Amino acid sequence: MALPSKGRLREPSWALLEASGVSPQEPGERVLQAHCRNADIDLLFVRADDVPEYVQDGVVDCGITGLDLVSERESNVDVILRLGFGTCSLQAAVSSEDAATSLSDLAGRRIATSHPRIAAKTLAERGIDAEIVAVAGSVEISPRLGLADAIIDLVSTGSTLRTNGLRSLEVLFESEAVLIGRVGSKDDEARRTLTTVLGSVINARANRYLLCNVAKDRLADVTALLPTAGSPTVIDLVTPGVVAVHALVPAADIWSLLPRLEAAGASSIITLPVERMVP
Ligand code: AMP
Repeated sequence: MALPSKGRLREPSWALLEASGVSPQEPGERVLQAHCRNADIDLLFVRADDVPEYVQDGVVDCGITGLDLVSERESNVDVILRLGFGTCSLQAAVSSEDAATSLSDLAGRRIATSHPRIAAKTLAERGIDAEIVAVAGSVEISPRLGLADAIIDLVSTGSTLRTNGLRSLEVLFESEAVLIGRVGSKDDEARRTLTTVLGSVINARANRYLLCNVAKDRLADVTALLPTAGSPTVIDLVTPGVVAVHALVPAADIWSLLPRLEAAGASSIITLPVERMVP
């Protein structure tokens, strides 16, 4: 399995293996190869940019990289799992003083990007004829340097755009870290095991275990509020007429759910992180 050796995706990729219980035996800064502690997986540490190529060529069976890099390299690999980190989007942007308001306003102009293939494909699909200037890094300073009129670059919070006096025109591509595998080894047992193990951690991170108490006569009001896919568990308490409700709820819903549960009669509300979840 190939893992990013540096850059933005390195730490969260290693943290995912750690949380999955399959972290490397010698997680040193400079090692290029390692074996996993509790699983028979050999790890190869390479740049995130190179992971799609290593997987496509069969040097490794699978790897973690950005979906934007898979698309930009036009790699022939299977995207097995979305990993929920490294989220960003490829956006077209111009200087805040520029008159352009949409991508089509960039016709006939120069656009700097580190993702020339995605950029060219999107422009061609939209029938926009613009000149693409491929640059490897620091795309956001190109308009100020006079190298280009606009950029197509990765954005996560938007603060880099703002700092450089740029204004977004449009999102071209949504990306996040993904687990990719060699085409044609779908039924491989090792791949299935890895997908289940990493997937269980990704699912767990997106959910919280919620517990609360409620009087039996208000139980229906409380359970009606739960954004739970499965059925909640209801357990009798020693105190007559009161039950405990246990449910798995999306982490993103917690903030809006708690006051509504309280208003519906729930008390002693507790939420706990979940370590693993296999649906
Ligand atoms: P690296 O160049 O090794 O730091 O990794 C870059 C990868 O991290 C990109 O290809 C994206 O998949 C991901 N990423 C997430 N957020 C951003 C961002 N704001 N800028 C650049 N890359 C990002």
